[in-house]
Amino acid sequence: MTRLDNQNKYDPLTHLLTGYEMQKYDFSTGRGAILLLGINAFRKINNTSGFLYGNKVLVALAECLQRFMDKNDRVYRLQGDEFIVLSPNGSKGKLREFFKSVNDYCTNIRGIKSFSVSAGLVSYPEDGTDFNTLMSNMEHSLEYAKEQKQEWIAEFSEKISQRHYRASLLHEALTKSIYNNFEGFELYFQPILDARTRKIVECESLLRWKTPEIPDATPYEFIKLLEDSGEIREVGFWVMEEALRHAAMWQKEYGNISVSFNVSYIQLLDGEFIDKLIAKARELQVDPRFVMVELTESCNAEDTEMLSRQFGRLQELGFKIAMDDFGTEYASFGLLHDVSMDVLKIDQKFVRGLIREGNMTDMAIIESVVDMCRRLSIQTVAEGIETEEIQDIIRSIGVSFLQGYLYSKPVPADEFERMIRQEQS
Ligand code: C2E
Ligand code: CA
Ligand code: CA
Repeated sequence: MTRLDNQNKYDPLTHLLTGYEMQKYDFSTGRGAILLLGINAFRKINNTSGFLYGNKVLVALAECLQRFMDKNDRVYRLQGDEFIVLSPNGSKGKLREFFKSVNDYCTNIRGIKSFSVSAGLVSYPEDGTDFNTLMSNMEHSLEYAKEQKQEWIAEFSEKISQRHYRASLLHEALTKSIYNNFEGFELYFQPILDARTRKIVECESLLRWKTPEIPDATPYEFIKLLEDSGEIREVGFWVMEEALRHAAMWQKEYGNISVSFNVSYIQLLDGEFIDKLIAKARELQVDPRFVMVELTESCNAEDTEMLSRQFGRLQELGFKIAMDDFGTEYASFGLLHDVSMDVLKIDQKFVRGLIREGNMTDMAIIESVVDMCRRLSIQTVAEGIETEEIQDIIRSIGVSFLQGYLYSKPVPADEFERMIRQEQS
């Protein structure tokens, strides 16, 4: 169902006008500004506190919008957690102020846990003179605001329009690649060293994708698109099989080199991924003790019970589980509490901070994480080691494994193999 399918005049939950009503508004004459609001992490609110509580939040926000709006403004509710405030003759500046008041208010509503909203802002006729154009420009601005996370509000601009255009080009090319048997996708491997011996004991598989249309697309960029579209599930199967294929080869040739690969939370929402992983490892005769799954984007992990069950199955068979980017999201500790982990990867941002002048914070953080892991029998990896100086500090703290450009960037499979051979000769 699209956000406009409901042709009723009023939304039954909030009693606000529906998006369908807004569609009738004539934007081709006059001027004004429009705000599209979305509740941050609404899915999480719904999932953790329940659907009824989610409804309470929506009603509270609707009331708040009506309380702060001007006499001539109109408030609409679209599908889900999105609302519109239309201000005929109003300015963007005015709606910015309005947005601030709303966000302040949302932290302090009786009976409702503090939440926040993001917004995309447009004005007409500047950013469009019809409903569809204005709507899509607002959507892209809201998306941008949510990504930036800083001000939580973004005005539509040429930059936002370009970003969206690039993302759609990329997405189209990605879909084509997937359809053409993963053409252009490749796995690179980055060595991980034992901190004591400084020998390569493991490698992390990292996804690469080349397209002639947009040659400078980064993994962060295209993986986010794959996650948003759900196509990461399909690509994730391919990554897993490729990683296992190399693991099988290298285990035979060079002994116990571990191979890890990244898995996003949404790849684990049903049991299929785990089933396939177990079956593939059997088929290729890979020793599971030398295969590690790195859970990225753990911040989105809402169903920790499911994770614990699925990872438990893997761990029983000997597979290793790592939590990636530890410390970047507030959920990290919660996840550690609920799900048993074998390895914890300390995020690059703390590692790099170690040599920043006068910075004792990152040192303290890493030391306590390592200390905690020791007590929990969890091994640690420090990511993003780029200098000898950082390496030495990291080793003195007692981190178990080292990873970073100091040793090698991620490289194609044959180059990684050359590194192992060289080390073993
Ligand atoms: P990550 O899992 O945290 O991977 C480490 C990233 O840090 C890699 O970026 C790697 O190239 C980079 N890196 C390693 N050492 C250094 C260093 O010393 N300095 C600096 N500046 N960077 C270093 P990359 O390959 O661009 O990957 C980005 C992210 O994309 C990964 O972050 C991971 O979250 C995601 N990703 C990569 N491959 C996959 C995949 O197959 N599946 C999923 N779901 N996500 C993946
Ligand atoms: Ca990783
Ligand atoms: Ca990482």
